[in-house]
Order: sequence, then C-alpha cells, then structure tokens
Amino acid sequence: MSTCSHCSNKSIFKREYSGEFLCKRHLTRSIQRKVNDEVRGYLQRDSRVGLAVSGGKDSSVMTHVMHTISKRFPQMELVGLVVHEGIEGYRSPSVETAERLLSDLEIPYDVLHFQDEFDVDVDGIVSKSGEKHRSCTYCGVLRREAVNELAERNDVEMIMTGHNADDMAQTIVMNMFQGNIKNMTKELEMPRLLPRRKPLRDVLEREIVMYAIANDVDYFQTPCPYSHHSLRHDVRNFLALMERKHPGVTYSLLRTAEKLEKETVKVEKRCRECGKPTTKEVCRTCELVQYVQSL
Ligand code: SF4
Repeated sequence: MSTCSHCSNKSIFKREYSGEFLCKRHLTRSIQRKVNDEVRGYLQRDSRVGLAVSGGKDSSVMTHVMHTISKRFPQMELVGLVVHEGIEGYRSPSVETAERLLSDLEIPYDVLHFQDEFDVDVDGIVSKSGEKHRSCTYCGVLRREAVNELAERNDVEMIMTGHNADDMAQTIVMNMFQGNIKNMTKELEMPRLLPRRKPLRDVLEREIVMYAIANDVDYFQTPCPYSHHSLRHDVRNFLALMERKHPGVTYSLLRTAEKLEKETVKVEKRCRECGKPTTKEVCRTCELVQYVQSL
C-alpha cells in the first residue's frame, strides 16, 4: 500500500471516491470528524443519548465514536439500548458482543426481549406464518417499537442508530421499487416523543469496517440467517457492485434523493389500539402483532 495522502505513515485504506490514501490515524480522524459534523447540530454538552446497539459493525463503531466524542463533554450521558429479537444461533451471541463492548466502555445499558414485550419473537413469527421473506418487515417494525420502549424507560433525549450511507442509499432504492415516494429519503415525520439520529449517515460501510479493524472494535460478524431472504439483501449487493465499479455513486444517489425530496407528510392520527402516532387507523406494530396472534 502507498503512503498516506496526509502524512508519511503507511496507508491502510484507499478512499476510492476521492483517490485519497489514509493511514490508521487519518482514517480514524476522518470518520470521527464526519460524525462530529453530523451530530453537532443537535447534540448538547449535557445530552442523555440512547445508543441502539446490536453488536454488529455499524452500531459498534457508532458506540466507539460516540464514546470518544462524549469524553470531551463530562456531562454527556450515553445509554446502550439493546434489543433481543429471538433469532436462534444469531441474536444471543450478537447481544453478548454488544454487552461486552458497552461494559468495556463503561456505558450503562438495558436489554429488552421481543418475547417479553410482544409475547412472540422473530423465530416464532416465521414458524407461525411461514413467511421467511417477510421476516425483516416484522423484525424491523417490532424492533423500532422495542427501541422506543427502551428509550422511554431509560429517560433519554434522543435515539442514535448505526445506519450508514449504504443503508440510506438502499432505503432510497427500495422505496423507489415499492413506490414510496413520500418517504424516499426519510421516514414519515411522526410527532414522536424522541428524535432518531443517524450519526454514521455520511460514512460508507467499507470505511466502517476499516475503522473497526484499525481501532480493535469487537463486533459480531455472522449475518442474520434471515437476511438473504429480504429485498434489502439484493439491493445491497447491487449497490455494492455499482460503488465498486463507479466510486461515488452512493453519495450521488443520496444527494439526488435530497434534491427530489418533497414536503414530509404531517401525521395527526393516533392508533385506535395503542394510541401512538400513525398514518393509519391501526399502527403498523399493532397490525403485525394482531396478524401474528391470528395465525
Ligand atoms: Fe431482523 Fe432481518 Fe436484520 Fe435479521 S436481517 S435482524 S430478521 S431485520
């Protein structure tokens, strides 16, 4: 590998879209700076922040970077929000990885199991419905609800998730495929109690992996057994190929979608079952729980 574009150290990574070579120090600094630029608009010195941590690379790197940033602000508090979705052979070891990371960084955390919250877990839903291809839909909707519950009971001001630039680009393409123009670039604007933030939204997945390796961030590497059944899986492969062949297309897609963005939909309805904000009569969480219970 060549020399770093910013110093005389050996580079460990080539940033294809800019042509830069980066050593460990400059790669680390660059990612920390991107996150810092992203969070400084909404993070206060004394914020109490809930970190949604799964044990995977994205949320583990987010936790590592946020821990570094929080060291500059002694009054800032971080709390790990860990959800156990109940996926045999996968979630228990990844939750253990998350717990280890949070303990090592001395960040307090709370764990919530799907089974305790919804009386069913992802394996149970899949075996009842036989719909492996929809496992991510069920899992995603219920996890969102579970993270909200953890955030409320831990009294945090905002929730941070590990979504990266690749995830954002995948969401745009998936929404285009599914005709969801209104929430193509962001989720529907809900009158939520707590804002959700994505500090890694401008960082590519490849760079997150390199950050984890360079900084010895432990993360759980085995993919979820249901992941290859989802539309996101195929979109991810397609966009990864495009980024390899045409460096920079991920950022171009994000910027194009931002330009196309229309006004967000104001949601005023409340779910008739649970009373939480929704766009429909019954919210997505209640709809899915009722469906699973009817099987
Ligand atoms: Fe849940 Fe799908 Fe992610 Fe597995 S891949 S944890 S089922 S959202």
